[in-house]
Amino acid sequence: MCRKPLHVGEKVQRCSVSTCNSGRVKLVFCSIACWDAHLPTARHRNAAAIEEIARKDMLGPKR
Ligand SMILES: [Zn+2]
Ligand SMILES: [Zn+2]
Repeated sequence: MCRKPLHVGEKVQRCSVSTCNSGRVKLVFCSIACWDAHLPTARHRNAAAIEEIARKDMLGPKR
């Protein structure tokens, strides 16, 4: 999971694997490199990064 703070309106990379998107916490990454680092820990067989513009609801509760 990315620890870099992400902001609404920024480009983010989302993991295409359904298990990474089905929970309450959606996995979003600041960059391809960051998403790449997630792959070995998640052990995906087939994964892609999806580029998206960050929305408020993707970034979790307000801090
Ligand atoms: Zn994933
Ligand atoms: Zn990151």
